Amino acid sequence: MGGKLAVFGGKPVRDLFLPYGRQWISKEDKAAVERILDSPYLTTGPAVAGFERKTAACTGAKYAVSFSSGTAALHAACFTAGIREGDEVITSPLTFAASANCILYCGGTPVFVDVDPRTYLITAEHIEAAVTERTKAVIPVDFTGQPADYDAIRKVADKYNLVIIEDAAHALGASYRNEKIGAVSDMTMFSFHPVKPVTTGEGGIITTNDEDWYKKLVQFRTHGITKHAPDYIKERAPWEYEMQFLGFNYRMTDIQAALGESQLDRLDSFTLMREAYADYYNKAFRNIKGVTVPFQEQGGRSSWHLYILKLDKELTDRRKEIFEALVAENIGVNVHYMPVYQHPYYQKHGYDQVCCPTAEKLYQQFLTLPLFPAMGQQDLDDVIEAVRKVLNYYQGGSGS
Ligand SMILES: *Cc1c(COP(=O)(O)O)cnc(C)c1O
Repeated sequence: MGGKLAVFGGKPVRDLFLPYGRQWISKEDKAAVERILDSPYLTTGPAVAGFERKTAACTGAKYAVSFSSGTAALHAACFTAGIREGDEVITSPLTFAASANCILYCGGTPVFVDVDPRTYLITAEHIEAAVTERTKAVIPVDFTGQPADYDAIRKVADKYNLVIIEDAAHALGASYRNEKIGAVSDMTMFSFHPVKPVTTGEGGIITTNDEDWYKKLVQFRTHGITKHAPDYIKERAPWEYEMQFLGFNYRMTDIQAALGESQLDRLDSFTLMREAYADYYNKAFRNIKGVTVPFQEQGGRSSWHLYILKLDKELTDRRKEIFEALVAENIGVNVHYMPVYQHPYYQKHGYDQVCCPTAEKLYQQFLTLPLFPAMGQQDLDDVIEAVRKVLNYYQGGSGS
């Protein structure tokens, strides 16, 4: 079926390389950015405030504070939650390094707990088993866009007085028990990197319902400075302001915010498209031997940031060849993620004894297929054809 593999000199399924994810910039997006370039404010102006208001409205949260990246936003959230040296914070190993690095930035200790083999998400049971008297917070990751089980996680968090900082970098547009992601946890982080649900180039945001945290987040992204006289520690001259704690310059520009605000207009349609594409993949791959399609828990509705096929034992042993064969067919497959504690930095800093067996096994089995709204029907069909062609080769007698 499908002829000779491109990796062996056959004709690739398509001529143009298809990435696993990519932004979609419209005429309206460009016009919005251009308006800012002609305006008096390039940063910290009305577009930033407008983008924050709109993100809050989209997610049902009271407040939203934008940052220069999702990583900066996570740092701010950990700082605001009071994470400091000696504190432990529980998170998932199956994520981008930033989910755990933000704990280290504050002097805290990341504690990795294993994931559920079906959802790939950390569970309330695993979290509870890892709680000590030093645990201050938990950072669940809505991996692939599927929300973690927040009812169960909330119970554990309340029992041990933990702050829930949700890493929803994948999950803008998702919902949990009919509530939008963004208003479910104590603080929620979204990323606006170009592969994420909507983009600002680089950027991130924290949503929260807590006014005190909101003020702290705003101050943290501007060096810890406040210009709000009622908050001053001393009486001040009109030109003075106060730096009250050590913050950073983590501000988003108005250029980025205008792009983000314009992109948000299409968030619902982007999410529906991702959902429809995932459905199309599911139908194509559900009955193929050797792969498992993504499992979806009842309570959540995924934003489908990533579509991951899980390979069975036989295919897992040949994943490197399968990966290379698909790239040769011009299909931009990817693998998300190597467990964070396996990175050399973590290995060097005391994590060489850590083992989350399910996460490690899943990492060997995963293959991320291209999925983004700007894909067309032909792109989807190319992916399906290439996957069938390549798996057929490596599965049957011909591959061995
Ligand atoms: C992208 C991402 C981040 C970091 O966001 P940036 O905007 O790239 O800094 C954090 N966590 C996860 C799970 C991500 O995918």
